[in-house]
Amino acid sequence: MSDTFVTSRTRGGELWTPTFILSLNGKRCIGCGRCFKVCPRQVFDLVDRESVSGLNADEGEDWEEDGFSDDPHMVMVIDNGDDCIGCAACSKVCPKRCHSHGPWPLH
Ligand code: SF4
Ligand code: SF4
Repeated sequence: MSDTFVTSRTRGGELWTPTFILSLNGKRCIGCGRCFKVCPRQVFDLVDRESVSGLNADEGEDWEEDGFSDDPHMVMVIDNGDDCIGCAACSKVCPKRCHSHGPWPLH
């Protein structure tokens, strides 16, 4: 049923609706790798910007505000979205607010 979302329960028994990864804005991404490291399900992959449709190899941002070394030619992509468990950890660590999340219809 398309009007019913995937839900779970907390350890204490409360209903909980996971917010699954829906998209990643590559134009904002600085390729820092934070989301890749925190994701428990290997959903992401770091690739060359020029291999992604719509991105320019030279438009990446060299962002070293906090000393985190970034390669402006790399960008994170969603490689395996169907393995996402909707924990939203990726959004919490992303410094550029690249990820979009939402509930997922229960088919
Ligand atoms: S919501 Fe969790 S499982 Fe899904 S992509 Fe983000 S970190 Fe990975
Ligand atoms: S945390 Fe954000 S900026 Fe860093 S690689 Fe992931 S999507 Fe890109």
